[in-house]
Amino acid sequence: MTGWDQEPISRVLWEVDHAVVRSIPLSARRSMDRLRVQESCSERSGEVSWWNKLWATRIPSKVKIHVWRAYHSAIPARAHLAHRGIHIDLSCPRCGPPMEDAHHALRACEGVRVIWEGTALWQNLKRFGGGPLSERCLFVASNCTKDDLEVFCMVLWSI
Ligand SMILES: [Zn+2]
Repeated sequence: MTGWDQEPISRVLWEVDHAVVRSIPLSARRSMDRLRVQESCSERSGEVSWWNKLWATRIPSKVKIHVWRAYHSAIPARAHLAHRGIHIDLSCPRCGPPMEDAHHALRACEGVRVIWEGTALWQNLKRFGGGPLSERCLFVASNCTKDDLEVFCMVLWSI
């Protein structure tokens, strides 16, 4: 094969992203790149569904990107900044001593929990219970309406 395997790219990504991905030169060690695409497509169908639903929402792109980053625990929470070499107090600015990582900042903090409890989504989120934010994202996408998913994303953005 001399180029990108088109089928997985077109199955997972939007058309506008196809051209961007295809413009990336393949490395001389291409076989590992091809395997990674196949693994992520075949083993994460729930995740693909989540992404498709997220990108199909009517929320601003910057919010979608924020939600994508939150899903991957890649928001600039204090633990993340410290991991990047920034000298910073790791405690949560809302509640104090616990280390503020993405999970705490967007889900576990008492100050954030009050926000979630004040949304119309709370009855559904309460059924989900604990677990990482990424699983909560998958739960909302699978068990709630498109409107609820949009509210969920906007709340994640506003926290
Ligand atoms: Zn906190």
